Amino acid sequence: MTDAQMPNSTSAQADSQLRAAGRPFADRVGELVRAWEADGRDEGRLVTGRAFFALYCWHLQTSRSGSRHDAATTAYVESAHRAIGGAAGWNAVLGRREHCSCHGERWRLENLSICLGCLQYVCYQLDGPCCHGAAIVG
Ligand SMILES: [Zn+2]
Ligand SMILES: [Zn+2]
Repeated sequence: MTDAQMPNSTSAQADSQLRAAGRPFADRVGELVRAWEADGRDEGRLVTGRAFFALYCWHLQTSRSGSRHDAATTAYVESAHRAIGGAAGWNAVLGRREHCSCHGERWRLENLSICLGCLQYVCYQLDGPCCHGAAIVG
């Protein structure tokens, strides 16, 4: 078994770090990016799954709004994107079905959004914000 085939416990740690609510999402991302850099940009520190969905939607929304993340954050997002399989991997993620936390209905991820406070999936029928002060992206 090579390292690449081993279950990646650091990655799971990175995922839960991004899911720890209570602090602004950008601060949580900043901590991940700094830890990743300090670790020689270790692949094991890249987020996956739901945490990646949140990170990538947040990044896309920031780009669409005309702002940019700093170079390290952008490099982190791009590395995580590559690690899940690039554009093809992202398309596969968007086709996955998940339940919205607001109604428990099943949706394709491309039709869901995510609350950057609690990292729960929410649908367009959500009436009002999810977590106080947290943005909803996706
Ligand atoms: Zn819903
Ligand atoms: Zn929330």
